Amino acid sequence: MGSVGRVQQVGGALVIVAAMVGLNSLGNHGPQPLRVDHTKAWSYVRTPHSTASGLERRLGEIASFVARRPVQVRCEDFFEGKLVEPGGVVQFNGERPADFARLRPDVCSALVHFARAPGGAYACVVAATCGPDTLRSAGALTVLAHESVHLRGLRDEAVVQCYAMQQVPAVARLFGASTEDGRALAALEYAVAYPHMPSAYRSAACHLGGSLDVSGNGGWLR
Ligand SMILES: [Zn+2]
Repeated sequence: MGSVGRVQQVGGALVIVAAMVGLNSLGNHGPQPLRVDHTKAWSYVRTPHSTASGLERRLGEIASFVARRPVQVRCEDFFEGKLVEPGGVVQFNGERPADFARLRPDVCSALVHFARAPGGAYACVVAATCGPDTLRSAGALTVLAHESVHLRGLRDEAVVQCYAMQQVPAVARLFGASTEDGRALAALEYAVAYPHMPSAYRSAACHLGGSLDVSGNGGWLR
């Protein structure tokens, strides 16, 4: 999920950094505008710098399906001293997303676990017996879907999260789940996890028939 923080402290830190750059520039008459450094930084961060593992290649294929363009996924820690959304991150340069998403290692582990046994969600929802493993699967699938929607170029977290939950059935099917189980996982995420997300990730329009309902049949809600 993700992108750069929207937290007051981050803004404060940026102000301090800008002031320091301003002071340094007083004694620097060289011809290196900051924009050049920024462009180099972006060209460096927009693509991954590690070879994809087998799992990462598979996740990249699924992310590309959701993102509607070729993208990659890497499983790695991404904490860089600033707050980012839990689970994953996609870097943006203005409105332009990078060409890959990073997922937290525990999210990748949950996806591996799900891929090995992608069935059972529908049955446990019907019987009201879903345990932590099923909820973890629903959450991990939603994180993958969320970052993949970011990779389309969408930044608004509430819109991205709503679209992501609607992608969960398709993403689950790509891992081998049935249509019923995929929908059950989306419904679990919507009913159990979504109400507890930070307000920036929720929208009053994210419901059956709401303006963010793009699934066509509301199957993700049931
Ligand atoms: Zn996000």
